Amino acid sequence: MQTFTPPFCPNPDCDSHRKTRGWRYTRWGAYRRTCPRVRTIARYRCSRCHRTFSRQTFQTTYWLRRTELLVTIAERLVAGSGYRQIARALGCSPTTVATHAARLGRHAMLFHEAHRPRGAPREPVVVDGFESFAFSQYYPLHLNLAVGAETHFVYALTESELRRKGRMRPEQRRKRAWEEAHFGRPHRRAIERGVGELLEAVVPAGGRAVVRSDEHRAYPRAIRGLRQRAIRHEVTSSKAARTPSNPLFAVNRQDLMLRHCGANHRRETIAFSKLRASVIERGYLQAVFMNYCKSLSEKRQDATPAERLGLVDHKLTMREVLTKRRFPTRLGLSGPVARYYTRQVATRRIPQMRGHRLVYAG
Ligand SMILES: [Zn+2]
Repeated sequence: MQTFTPPFCPNPDCDSHRKTRGWRYTRWGAYRRTCPRVRTIARYRCSRCHRTFSRQTFQTTYWLRRTELLVTIAERLVAGSGYRQIARALGCSPTTVATHAARLGRHAMLFHEAHRPRGAPREPVVVDGFESFAFSQYYPLHLNLAVGAETHFVYALTESELRRKGRMRPEQRRKRAWEEAHFGRPHRRAIERGVGELLEAVVPAGGRAVVRSDEHRAYPRAIRGLRQRAIRHEVTSSKAARTPSNPLFAVNRQDLMLRHCGANHRRETIAFSKLRASVIERGYLQAVFMNYCKSLSEKRQDATPAERLGLVDHKLTMREVLTKRRFPTRLGLSGPVARYYTRQVATRRIPQMRGHRLVYAG
């Protein structure tokens, strides 16, 4: 039996969940687990709320039957595989992969929230909407990204529903009308709202920042709507050559990597996400991978964006990212992340999607 010191009471309703001073617990027997290998695991009991728990309660694999799958699935998800391809390779069902992907996404949100810088960014921030869709091409969306111009760190990520636009054949137009009549339309200012929330997350109240973007008309409106923040907005034409000297290079590169590493965003793919919530979850996993696990230059194997910001002192492996279970109740989530974490993002075509309960969050 390995020694383990419980850091706090895992029960979110217990006073010792957030405040650990003077917290006491006692040993409370043990149980045998058989997976991934047979061993005895000590149980403990909180002296305040009397809830029992074990070392396993503090791991990301909490409540998972096949604990060894989590890291492998994470690695494959950020390496451009679809759920079915992963399922075949690992000998599990696509549903198992989907469940793991959702948990990984939620974990990535918490990891990001726990580590991201809290003050106003010390570098210009580049903002852009990465276009994808969920359920079908009639339901496009933007993943709004805020990326550091110098470090390439993804500071924040939000999502905005869009209305299908562009060239459509007459039957496609009729289909869109039918979909909208039955399932409603996105809010007309969805991008403005999404980008407003994005910048609120990046620049704290009282802070100032330089924000770069293309000439999308919703951005100036989003910036004007921000309270208690001083933003200098620099606009670059989206027609400018997408070279490293382009002021928007950091976000252009990030867009490219999202399409390259995520099977759900490939052009003409059949591995697209069926749910808006999964697009966001996979987006966060991708962002954490890009921030903490991937060198800016694969060729030079140089520092990651998080190292450049001084948040960590080495390049993390996916296993390191996934070591510790994070508790949303200890982080105090607010704003869009709180919504995304509990899956309060409806997919219009799927009316009664199950939300994720905060209590048993993994
Ligand atoms: Zn307790």
